Formats: sequence, C-alpha cells, structure tokens
Amino acid sequence: MTAADAVVIGAGCAGLAAATALADAGLRVAVVEARPVAGGRTFATRDRVTGTWVDNGQHVLFGCYHETLDYLTRIGTRDRVTVQSSLTVPMIDAAGRRSELRCPPLPSPLQLAAGVLAWDAVPLGERLAVRKLAPALASGATPSGGETVRQWLTRHGQADGLIALLWEPLAVAALNQSIDDATATTFVEVVRRLFGPGPDDAALVLPAASLSHVLVDPAMAFIAGRGGDVTCGTPARVLVDDGRVRGVSLRGASGIETRTVIAAVPWHALAALFDEPPAPLQDVVRAASALGSAPIVTVHLWFDRDVLDAPFVGLPGRRFQWVFDARRIAGEAAHLSLVCSGADDIVALENDALIDIARRELEAAVPAARAATLRRASAVRERRATFSLRAGEPRRPGTATGLPGFFLAGDWTDTGLPATIESAVISGHRAARAAAEHLARPSPQPPAPSLR
Ligand SMILES: Cc1cc2nc3c(=O)[nH]c(=O)nc-3n(C[C@H](O)[C@H](O)[C@H](O)COP(=O)(O)OP(=O)(O)OC[C@H]3O[C@@H](n4cnc5c(N)ncnc54)[C@H](O)[C@@H]3O)c2cc1C
Repeated sequence: MTAADAVVIGAGCAGLAAATALADAGLRVAVVEARPVAGGRTFATRDRVTGTWVDNGQHVLFGCYHETLDYLTRIGTRDRVTVQSSLTVPMIDAAGRRSELRCPPLPSPLQLAAGVLAWDAVPLGERLAVRKLAPALASGATPSGGETVRQWLTRHGQADGLIALLWEPLAVAALNQSIDDATATTFVEVVRRLFGPGPDDAALVLPAASLSHVLVDPAMAFIAGRGGDVTCGTPARVLVDDGRVRGVSLRGASGIETRTVIAAVPWHALAALFDEPPAPLQDVVRAASALGSAPIVTVHLWFDRDVLDAPFVGLPGRRFQWVFDARRIAGEAAHLSLVCSGADDIVALENDALIDIARRELEAAVPAARAATLRRASAVRERRATFSLRAGEPRRPGTATGLPGFFLAGDWTDTGLPATIESAVISGHRAARAAAEHLARPSPQPPAPSLR
C-alpha cells in the first residue's frame, strides 16, 4: 500500500478542483479515476476520421462561474476561455426569423431589462413584463418546493411568447429538463447569479480549446507537479474500519492508505464505493441511488465550408436548441455541434436518425447549410448528463458526512445550482476545505489498553 494525506475518488471537475486545491495547500494528494481518461463529463476525444478534438458535448460557462474561473487561474488555463464583453445571444426562431438579444454592459439587473426591451423578437407588451421579475429576484424569496419553472414564470407575469423565446431556452440549457418538470428553485438561483452584482456575471464564457485541454489535463499536470498522483482506469472502493476511513482499495493495483477521502463521483456511482455502506452513510447512499438523471444528445457535423456567421445560435422551438461553431470558438476544430438538452424523447434513437434530425433542423434554420456538403457526422449520447430537478427528488447531501474523514463532492451535492461545472467546482473546493480542516486535527490514537 502507498499512502497519501488525502485520496480523491473521481477525476471530473469536482475531484480535480478538490485535488488541485489540496495540492496547492502542500498536501500529498492521490486522485483515482475509474475510466481510462480523466474529465468525467467534461472530456474530448480525437475524432477517428478528421483527427480533430471533439468534446463530449459543448460546454458553456458564464462570468458568474467565479469558482471555476479561480480554478482555471490555479491550473494556468484562464487564458484558454473567451469571455463575451456582455451577454449577446443570436436566435433563429421556428419560423426562421433571426434576432439578437443584446444586453448592454449596464449594472445588473438593468442589462437584462434593457436587452429584452430592445429585442424585437417578441411584441413590446410581452417584453415589458420582464420588469415584473425584478422584485421576485431581488427579494431573495425561494419558490415553493413543487412549483415548476413554467408555473413560476407565469405567476410573475411572463407571457407565452417571452417564455418560448427567452426563458425556456435559457432554462432548458441550464437545467437540462423541461420547464414543466424542473422545479423553479434552482432556476431562480441560476437567474439570480447570472444577473448578479458583478459587471461580467452574465457574460458568456466559451472554452477556446477542447475541454480536456482547458479543464482536465493541466489540472493533472498541476497535481503531479506538486508531488501528487493521478491514476486512471482503476475503480476505487473506500476502506472503513472501526467507524473510520482507513484508505481506498483499487481494482488491479495496490491500495492507498489515508484517513481522508473525498468521493467526487456522480450520484449513481456512490453506492459502488462500498461493499456495504457504513451505518452513518446509509441514508445518503440510498438517496443518491434514488436521484433521477437526464440525458443530453450532441450531434457533430463537419461541412465543406463555413455555414454559421456567429460562434453560436439559439434555435428555440426545435429539438436541437443550440448550434455551436467549433471553428469560431476554438479555432483549430472545424465542425458544428448541435445540442439537444432534456433529450429524453430522442436519446434512444440510432445515430443516423439523430444526425438526420439535427441536419434537417439546421438546414431549416440556416439556409447556408442547405448548399454545403456534409463530410462527416457523429452523435454523442450522455444518458446521465445531469441529475433530475423534478419535484419529489431526494434532498441533495452536504460536504460532511456522518463518517469522519469522508467527504462528498460532485455537481449533485447541495450547492443550490443545477448540474454545472460551477456546481462541481464549488463542491470540490468545499470538500478540499473540509478535508484540510480534518487533516489539521490530530489523528485519533488507538484506544489505550485498559489497565486492570
Ligand atoms: C453533454 C453535456 C453538456 C453539458 N453542458 C454543460 C454546460 O454547458 N455548462 C455547464 O456548466 N455544465 C454542463 N454540463 C454539466 C457538467 O459537465 C457537469 O456538471 C460536471 O462536469 C460534473 O462534474 P463532476 O466532477 O461533479 O462529475 P463527473 O464529471 O461525472 O466526474 C465524476 C468522476 O468519477 C468517476 N468515478 C465514478 N465512480 C468511480 C470509482 N468507483 N472510482 C474512481 N472513479 C470513479 C467517473 O468516472 C467520473 O470521471 C454538461 C454535461 C454534459 C454531459
């Protein structure tokens, strides 16, 4: 057995944020990842035909991802993202009409109000209703538990047209769930942060290289450079003895001795960390296993020429709600990525069918695509892209658990945010702080033999 101050199980954004924070604090950290490559739900592969790097799905960040931006600064990739000067969203509606929501760089929340009021995609009467949201957002009040996003928007005077063109695309992208299913609480938190006090909070932030090159590989190099260790391709299990963490066992490799473990695995993988969860973790493991999941489908299309005239375009009212141009975003790559969030109704389709829907929808919205020749296409299904925000889902757990030395991280823990990189990174940073505090406390001594 080797030894480490702390072991982080799972090398997604949560685990890497935790591990880099611990390594930065001078602690000896070991990261163990079950899959052959690190990154979890943020990774890139080389397309086998074109040789270009392709992400498992386009990821969009925002200026309000403060902890993610700190993480990028730590691992040295803050310059590998492009930050919009203010929120600008081109849209092509289901009838093919093009418009642009352009929020001027004003103090929040004026930029949203000014942007929507000037946006001619919906009638003026509907646009004016956006002002009705300001008191609800400013009050800090939490929507009632069972209220859906649509019910909350309607209760605050948002008309159907504005919901369909603005709020629904935003909510479905952020929550990965229909606005008739997802509860409003998390959505309201997203909107509050997006139109928060920071002048750049609403700005779109796009990775200017593949996800592996922005979020993952530099983090692994950071950890290794500080004496830490990352092992991929080895599922880990937690060793618990006498009510305490003793280490982790690795399939096909020698284990690691430690008294501090951060489990940064998704909700559906928590139970597999234990033969039998110890008593203090049984409720949390049961709740995690019961949490639902929602899929995202991405179709990548390689055309023989430029088809889009913007880095991305919203396609409200279609199955694939957004199209991103990797050439304009990341320079070297040359494909379009069409994203279908909340993809329950198409995730089971064959690749050819998915590609066909994406291509037809693109051609309907963007005339230039009709004249272009499609050179290659691929489809990526992430069946458990995010956890469900439906009413009645189990409560999300906190960082600390009833088991001393065992901490939870992951986008699904109780950050108040939906499944996002920011939620993952916040959870990782929280877990790193809790683990460092635990390590600073003296190690409990084995009980002294009783004297008779
Ligand atoms: C297609 C797609 C598009 C998305 N778009 C966006 C977006 O635009 N913006 C945004 O902010 N977010 C987006 N997300 C969500 C974002 O990717 C996730 O919220 C985030 O990456 C989750 O990170 P995590 O570290 O919590 O979990 P994961 O990334 O799931 O990492 C957990 C890791 O634990 C590993 N693991 C599991 N069990 C074990 C074990 N026993 N031993 C060792 N390792 C184990 C897994 O293999 C995995 O690598 C998207 C997600 C998908 C899939």
